[in-house]
Order: sequence, then C-alpha cells, then structure tokens
Amino acid sequence: MQCEVLVVGGGPAGSTAARLLSEKGIETVLVERTFAFDKPCGGGIPSAGLKEFDILDLIKKNISFNTVTKVKIFPPFSEPIEVSLKGGEILIFNRQKFDSFMRDLAEKSGTRVIEAELVNIEQTNKKTKSIVRKKGGETLEIYSKYIIAADGVNSKVCSIKGLPRPDYYWTVSVHIPKNFMDNKDTCEFWFGSSHASFFYSWVFPGLDYLSVGTGAEDIRKLKSFIVNFVKKRFESNIDIDSLKLRAYKIPKWKKGIFFKENIILCGDALGTVMPVSFEGIYYSMKSAQFATEAIITKNLKLYKKLWEDSFLRQFSMMKRFQEYMFGNDERMDQWLNIHRDSSIQELAMALWLRKEHGSKLIPLYLKAFGSLISRIATFKIK
Ligand SMILES: Cc1cc2nc3c(=O)[nH]c(=O)nc-3n(C[C@H](O)[C@H](O)[C@H](O)COP(=O)(O)OP(=O)(O)OC[C@H]3O[C@@H](n4cnc5c(N)ncnc54)[C@H](O)[C@@H]3O)c2cc1C
Repeated sequence: MQCEVLVVGGGPAGSTAARLLSEKGIETVLVERTFAFDKPCGGGIPSAGLKEFDILDLIKKNISFNTVTKVKIFPPFSEPIEVSLKGGEILIFNRQKFDSFMRDLAEKSGTRVIEAELVNIEQTNKKTKSIVRKKGGETLEIYSKYIIAADGVNSKVCSIKGLPRPDYYWTVSVHIPKNFMDNKDTCEFWFGSSHASFFYSWVFPGLDYLSVGTGAEDIRKLKSFIVNFVKKRFESNIDIDSLKLRAYKIPKWKKGIFFKENIILCGDALGTVMPVSFEGIYYSMKSAQFATEAIITKNLKLYKKLWEDSFLRQFSMMKRFQEYMFGNDERMDQWLNIHRDSSIQELAMALWLRKEHGSKLIPLYLKAFGSLISRIATFKIK
C-alpha cells in the first residue's frame, strides 16, 4: 500500500491529523490498534475547543455527552470553592465513542482507516516502509512519505525510531455507577497529599457513570491513593475492590522534538498535556493541526513555530507554577483559596475555557499570585 502520510494511532491527535490532511486531498492512511479501545480519561473537553475545529455542532448531533457548567475545588484544608463557568461549558465524553466518531470524520474526508497495530518501520531506498499487523495476524506493508506518530504516551513509533518518549505521571481511574452522582453539572477537583501527589483527584460526571481518579509520580502510590480518595469522597459507601481500576500514564510536558526526518510527533507522543490542568485532548488536536499545516506547506519546521507561537509561553509558565505549587499542601491550600475572589475565578476559567487566548491571560493569572508567591519563596514570574 502506498500513501503520502501514514498516521499511527487513532486517538484525538491521529484522527484530527488524518481528517485535516484528507480534506486537503493528501492521500492518508490511519492505523489504530483497537477500534474498541476506551482510553482511561476523564473525557472532559471545553466546548469552545471543539468549536474552534468547527466540529462542535456535528459532535453534539451525533454523540451523547454530559454538559458541565460548574467546577467545585476542594483545597487540602479549607472549605470547597464552587465556581460557575458563566456561559462556558465542559462536555464529558466516553472516550471510545468520541475517538470512534473522530475516526469516522477522518474516513468520511477520505482517510483509509485500518484496525491494525504498527509493529515495525524500515527505511528502504528513500522510502519508508511500515509494517502493520491486523487483528487476525495478517500483515500489511505501507509505504509513505511521512509518518505521524500519534500513538500516545507509549509511542511505538518513537521506540522503533529511537526518539525520546515523554516523561509521565501515573494515573489510576475507575468508573463509579451513576447512582452515586449527586451533581450532574459539576466537575470536582480535590487536592491533598493523602490521595494525590503532584496531581489532583477528580470526579467527572459522565453520561452513564462517574469518572473518578487520581495521580502520582510513582505507580506504587496509586492503590492507596485511590482507596483513600474514594473513602474520603464517598464515605465508605463504595467497595473499591469490586470495581475495575485502570492505571495509565499521562505525559509530563517538556520541550520536545517535533519531528525527525520524515517522522512527526503529535499529541501525547510529543507530550502536549497542559501542566496544572492536565488537559490533553484539545492540545493533542492542536498539535495535529499544526503538524498538518507543516506537511501541506512542505515545511516541517513550521510545526514547531506554530506550536511555540501559540502555546510555549503558557505551557512553560504553567509548568514552573506546577513545580512550585504541587507537592506542598500548605502552598496548594493558599493558592486555591485565592480562587474565592471572583475576578481570579474568571481569569482561571477563561484560561481553561479559552474564551480568550491563553498566552495573554496567563501572565495576568500568575501575577494574581505574585504577592502569595513572593511571601513564601523566591519564585519569579517572567
Ligand atoms: C486518567 C486520565 C484522565 C484524563 N482526563 C482528561 C480530560 O478529562 N480531558 C483532557 O483533555 N485530557 C485528559 N487526559 C489526557 C488525554 O487523555 C490525552 O492527552 C489525549 O488522549 C491524547 O490524545 P492522543 O491522540 O495524542 O493519544 P491517545 O488518546 O493516547 O491515542 C493514541 C492511540 O494510538 C493507538 N496506538 C498505540 N500504539 C499503537 C500502534 N503500535 N499501532 C496502532 N495504534 C496504536 C492507541 O490504541 C490509541 O487509540 C487524561 C489522561 C488520563 C490518563
């Protein structure tokens, strides 16, 4: 099989890249290891992010989701803070449904979508040959000019090509039956070192279940953290051992390698998860969009430029902020309590919901913490 671009991985990054390339008439093949894969994920996406891609109405018409209009923050020591999204909304999807709809959109635009796993890549006389294996064991050889690695945090493309894979935190998540759902319109973020480390614990109301989880830098902490969290949040009403726990990595963002020769990295394979919020779906789609623009204009260097112009400042500042705030309950408590101020709430939510461009808002948001930060350390906001 021959094509211009082989996209490996059919998550949000891969299907977005494939759709945008096919819409421009570029011959594209997408291989996804398992169509039924339901990625462990909160599935929360600000609707503004999907609107930006012009797919919000289509998605709303075709897949079910829950709409969240409020956020409740639980600091380690203080009373919870409830924040209205004031007209903004977070849509909560089941990832299997979301990912398969996004692949359908790519297919309708002309992408050839195949359920198969990439197993090897070989370089032969200027041509790149990828070997993929279908479920029944049959193998295919796909010759392409470019390969997009959109195969997630454990990227096989990166391991075959000797490219660095992102560092990561560990998460553990579980689906809790919806009869435990008290606020269908509220996402909860819980902070505190008894149940999360360099991360937060979350309760996201999906349509049919609650997505509940937590994170840590060390996989060995996960079990006790999720047990502690579920006990704290649901007051021993849930037998955690009767539920299926799923551990999965989430990238720790740092400046990465966008491409090497004809291999282009997108989404989690590149590590595009926003520090502090750990939001990755929208940013993986943006990385795919920028990568496709670079391919279309035959200038791969454009990819890095487009990404850095849009997000480098925001990601770098949030990373430094995260390194400073997370891992210390007292600091975290002080930081979160500042969100009782309605103007700070608005800034934080605008940042998340992207009512305005983040790179303009982030310095304002961080400045709001200037006095707190200078009181407790020599953290400098550039
Ligand atoms: C527990 C958890 C909760 C999260 N919650 C949120 C949230 O609420 N909102 C948010 O925005 N982000 C969230 N994230 C982050 C988000 O899930 C990721 O950033 C996002 O899925 C990245 O998309 P991607 O397409 O780059 O990679 P993925 O979604 O990981 O997709 C990679 C795809 O590649 C396929 N694949 C892998 N290897 C191969 C191979 N060899 N051959 C073929 N196919 C292959 C996989 O099957 C998979 O479908 C969460 C992450 C975790 C772990």
